[in-house]
Amino acid sequence: MSAADFVPAGADLDQLREAAKQCQGCHLWEDATQTVFGRGSSSARVVFVGEQPGDVEDQRGEPFVGPAGVLLRRAVGDAGLDPADLYVTNAVKHFKFKRQRKRRIHQTPDRTEIIACRPWLLAEFAQLAPRVVVALGATAAQALLGPSFRVTRQRGILLPWPESAYHLEDFAQPGGSARVMATLHPSAILRADDRETAYKGLVEDLHIAAQALV
Ligand code: SF4
Repeated sequence: MSAADFVPAGADLDQLREAAKQCQGCHLWEDATQTVFGRGSSSARVVFVGEQPGDVEDQRGEPFVGPAGVLLRRAVGDAGLDPADLYVTNAVKHFKFKRQRKRRIHQTPDRTEIIACRPWLLAEFAQLAPRVVVALGATAAQALLGPSFRVTRQRGILLPWPESAYHLEDFAQPGGSARVMATLHPSAILRADDRETAYKGLVEDLHIAAQALV
């Protein structure tokens, strides 16, 4: 089972967003509130790919509107990126969690779920022509760059896109001169013991992305 059966051929981003509401390409739709599809301009020069929606995103139906999104927006500003020039999405479009009393605790999506949801990510990229793709965290980096990619060792390095993509034929971009870079997920910054240093590292990585637009 995968999202492929639910992705309409030739659809634009708005049509994809609408169709994704009905996706049952894996079991994650069953417990989540709603599909959280990507947001932003189809002409965005920078595309951010995160892991999956969090608790707040699941309730509001929009990506990066919870605490991690607040931190990401601050880092975007501090790095000199224009928020109007971004498209933000996730590798997996439904919130995966386990219940602990009244709380919903985030669970990292597994490989099967990432692969099941990949057709939505590919359909989004087919409608986008970014100059820079930023993978936020290990799940997004591995969805884009393959299972052997290690964010801790390879963050902040601009790679050719889509040549470096996992199954590059999935991301063919005619005449594309874009690049891709991985960095920490903003929620990892929020969990870090030394949050200030971790935040500084995120801003430095995003500054590299901003410089690539110049
Ligand atoms: S996580 Fe992705 S593949 Fe699974 S149901 Fe949600 S949108 Fe479909």
